[in-house]
Amino acid sequence: MKSIVNKLVKNLKKHGIKVKLIKSKFVQYGDGTICNGYFDETNKTMKVAVGKPIIKWFPTFIHEYCHFEQWLNNAPQWYNSAEDEQYTLNLAMDHFNGYLKLTKKQLNDYLHRAAEVELDCEKRVIKKIKENNLPIDVKKYTQRANAYIAFYYAMEKLKSWYDFPPYESEEILNIMPSTIRGVNHKKLGKKLVKLFEKHCIKQ
Ligand SMILES: [Zn+2]
Repeated sequence: MKSIVNKLVKNLKKHGIKVKLIKSKFVQYGDGTICNGYFDETNKTMKVAVGKPIIKWFPTFIHEYCHFEQWLNNAPQWYNSAEDEQYTLNLAMDHFNGYLKLTKKQLNDYLHRAAEVELDCEKRVIKKIKENNLPIDVKKYTQRANAYIAFYYAMEKLKSWYDFPPYESEEILNIMPSTIRGVNHKKLGKKLVKLFEKHCIKQ
């Protein structure tokens, strides 16, 4: 895994991306949203929390690397995930946090666009795992990816980001499909709202 990471870091640097592997459990994104990592095109930075065994952070590293590839390859989903140079996910967060007032239609549109970029990214990750025989359990990864994307669609009802990642809850993962193609994440998200409330949001 280390050698794959080194190889990919080299490629990121070649394209002018600063790679920051942070020795903590989470990294902070924007206004204090916690996550396992992110790729930020504005600051040309990729950050991943590596204060845990590599087996835990390696999939995150590959996921963020695939966001880099979306940017590099001009993926339409990547460009569609920003509005006026702001990620639509951040705009939705600003709305939830009361800094911005979006109409219901705008909010749905922004969350939808944020979900689409994640879906395209996860498809790239899964393809990479299979093609390069990466040491990631592809079935489990796919279930985690489905839970993650479904969460984006549930956010409209949940009105917040998660406190506990949806892809860490066994109860949620157990009912996730193990393929990603053909999954209706929007419908799935609506079905899962109660479980997300129970397992992912601080009461
Ligand atoms: Zn992502």
